[in-house]
Order: sequence, then C-alpha cells, then structure tokens
Amino acid sequence: MSPSSKRIAAVYDQVLARNPGEAEFHQAVKEVFDSLDRVLTRFPEYAEESILERICEPERQIIFRVPWTDDHGRVRINRGFRVQFNSALGPYKGGLRFDPSVMLGTVKFLGFEQIFKNALTGLPIGGGKGGSDFDPKGRSDGEIMRFCQSFMTEAYRHIGSSVDVPAGDIGVGAREIGYLFGQYKRIANRYEAGVITGKGTSWGGSLVRTEATGYGAVFFTEHMLKANGRGLDGARVLVSGSGNVAFYAIEKIHALGGLVIGASDSSGAVHDPQGIDLDVLREVKQVQRARISEYAQQRDSAEFIGGRSVWSVAEKHRVDVAMPCATQNELDDDDAKLLLKAGVSAVVEGANMPTTPAAIDRLRDAGTLFGPGKAANAGGVATSALEMQQNSIRDSWSFEYTEARLAEIMENIHARCAGTAEDYGVPRDYVAGANIAGFTQVADAMIAQGVI
Ligand code: NDP
Repeated sequence: MSPSSKRIAAVYDQVLARNPGEAEFHQAVKEVFDSLDRVLTRFPEYAEESILERICEPERQIIFRVPWTDDHGRVRINRGFRVQFNSALGPYKGGLRFDPSVMLGTVKFLGFEQIFKNALTGLPIGGGKGGSDFDPKGRSDGEIMRFCQSFMTEAYRHIGSSVDVPAGDIGVGAREIGYLFGQYKRIANRYEAGVITGKGTSWGGSLVRTEATGYGAVFFTEHMLKANGRGLDGARVLVSGSGNVAFYAIEKIHALGGLVIGASDSSGAVHDPQGIDLDVLREVKQVQRARISEYAQQRDSAEFIGGRSVWSVAEKHRVDVAMPCATQNELDDDDAKLLLKAGVSAVVEGANMPTTPAAIDRLRDAGTLFGPGKAANAGGVATSALEMQQNSIRDSWSFEYTEARLAEIMENIHARCAGTAEDYGVPRDYVAGANIAGFTQVADAMIAQGVI
C-alpha cells in the first residue's frame, strides 16, 4: 500500500466512525476517495493540509422540526434538513428533496456529491443540499403549501442569495418552489430573487432550467459517444424514472435521433418499442399525476411491467444506452449483467448515484463507457447558476441563448473529465476524471483560503 492509499484508508475509517448509519454518505465518499490515490501522490500538500478530513465534514448541518396542519385539522410533524457542505467556490448551492426516505445521511451524500459537481460546472457555487422526510404524494395543494411555508419559516434564517441558494430535487418542483419563495419573501420582506432557483419564468426563473438536467445529461452522453466514434442517432435507449430529469432526457434523445424504448416510475416500467410518446407521458405523470401503468392503458404499442425496473426490458431487447434518471442505487450488479448481455455500450447517470459500486465496476471492466452523475447531471445546477446571474443583473435570457450556454457548459465538463482522466493515465475513465477535476479545484481553493 502506498503512503497515499494508507492515508485515504485511514480517513475513510474515520468517516465511517464519525458518521454511523449513513450508508449512502459512506458510499459517496468512497467513490470519490477511490479516485484520489494518484492525486495525493502527485500533490502531497493535500494530505499535509488535511483536505480529505476537512472536505468530508460539512461546514454546517441544520436539522429542524417542521410542524404543519393537514386538511383534517390534524397537526403533523416532519423533519427538515439543510447541510451546508462546502463554500470554497461560492455560496452553498443544491436542491431540496421531499421524500419519506430522506434522512441526514441522504442529505449528506447528496451535499457531498454536489461540491464536486458544482466545481465541474466552472461556475462560482459551493455545495449544499437539504430536504425533508415529508411525503408529497397524495397531498392536496393546500397541504403542500402549508408544509412549504412551515419549512421556510425555519430555513429562511440560513439562506440568502450570497449565503445558500436552494432549488428543487425529488418531490420539489415548480409548485413547491413557488410556495417556498413566497414564504421567504413574506418573512424577509424583500424580493430577493436569487435566494432560490427553479422559479416560474414569469417571476425570476430562467428559461431552460426545467429542461436543463435532462438535456444536459444527453448533451454529455452525445459528447462521450462522439469522442469514442459513436453517437445517439439510431441508438436504442432505456431511461429510468419519468420525473423531471427523465422526461427532458427522453425529449432530447428523440431530438438527436435516438429511440427511448422504456421508462418507469416507482411502481414499475413500460416498454414501448415505437418510442416513448411524450404527450402521453406528460398527460399521465404531470397532468394526472398518475402511475406509469396508465401510460400503457393509453398507448397501444406499450406494455406495463409491474413491480420491476426498466432494466428488465433488456432481458428481451437490444439496448445501446442506459440512462438511470430516477433515484440512488436503482441500477445494481444484476441489472448491469442484463444490460451488458443486451449490448449496452454506454451508461450515463441522470440521477445522483443511481448505479451501485458493483455495477459500476462490472460496466467499466466490460469496457462500457460510464458517465457519472456528478458530471452528467450537472446541467441542472449550472442552469440554476445562470438563473442567479440573470437575477443579479435583473435580466432574462432567451431560450436559445440559455440552451446554448448549457450546451457549452456540458461540452466543457465532458472535455475536463476526459482530459483529466487522460492526464492521470486512465483514459476514458470519466469517474476518475470527474472526481479528480472537481476535487483538485475545491482543494486548491480551500488551501488558498486558509484553515477555516
Ligand atoms: P422527480 O421527483 O421529478 O422524479 C423522480 C422519478 O423517479 C419519478 O418518476 C419517480 O417515480 C421515480 N422513482 C423514484 N424512486 C424510484 C424507484 N425506486 N424506481 C423507479 N423509479 C423511481 O425527480 P427528478 O427527476 O428531479 O430527480 C431524479 C434524480 O435526478 C434524483 O436522483 C435527483 O437527485 C437527480 N437530479 C435532479 C436534478 C434536477 O434538476 N431535478 C439535478 C441533478 C440531479 P414516482 O412518480 O413513482 O415517484
């Protein structure tokens, strides 16, 4: 074992001991640490300055009670979180997730990933994340509004356009952002548009923000494929999920000539050999807020596969590209085996940490191109940063201009990951490229800013 690997292993043991029961956080840290041996050997100052230890410890963690009243007059209690992980590059920036599975370890894993993702965008934003174990499913608009108002009644003390700027994530879309911003404005008594991103486009939001994560992930995929002599044109693609990221990923894949033959939600998947019809999907998931089985009811060419993931489509059909766009650890080793048998040549993460470590190892060993979420899905936060820029100069840019900025950012992220991987002797290893490029940028800023 080299001195660098020994140091990394020792710090990882400390992370396990200091953060018990936070399996997802451990997984996210390990994934980054696994790329850093070469970096610490080349730059011993990162170890001398205890950057590994510092970067794993959030600058601030806020946990608070969120009381609200349901439609029957019953008082409900949820738990709210905001983890302000690292501000070396700018104000903390990262979304809010409302889902019953959310606990401190979830928010820490997402916040940790966010530090490096935000660095990769090349924009001045630090890393943070937040959320609640509140379940928005089946709640009325009134209940959602009261919950969001209560959440913000505490959160407003900790955020601000130069301090910490939340946005959406799972369970937090345009409706929730509206209620959260409204309450912030009421309490703070000022119209501080840059305090939150993902706003409605008529009141300070940026065009393309809604589409940005899905579009950006597809731009990244196209660059990755092109760099390796292929492209999305004619590719058969599976996309998991049918929420914000999945929906716009499907739209852009179709625009670039690919065919998405499967999508899913938490109740099952649909296989549609003629390609997912976005009008039907929009009606089912965004208008009716129904289960994905309804898609198969409304579309003759589609079949519903209840209780199984979208990767099961690969049992019987050729698949060229897989894009997990739903949630963490949704593509495991068995799924990777299935995809490899079906001929997959690229897997790109639209979601955060959707591929298990064993599945990543299997795919990389088989020579499959693998685009990690912290690079591939960075288009969402990058466009949030563009929203902050527009807010600060009180301007709003056209769709075309903003999409062109997004496309340029994704091209740069791809080039940075590919170039860094090459520089460190692991060409085509986008995981190592993303981790090393993000880490070194944040580490250099931390050293420059002293021991704080
Ligand atoms: P949404 O809430 O809009 O959509 C999530 C989708 O995933 C829904 O279709 C949901 O189904 C589905 N889903 C949840 N759990 C499972 C599961 N176990 N199996 C299959 N499907 C499941 O969230 P987003 O699209 O915004 O986020 C998706 C992922 O992308 C998350 O990991 C998020 O952190 C990440 N991300 C999002 C960004 C953004 O800008 N929105 C930016 C960067 C990353 P159901 O309808 O049944 O709940």
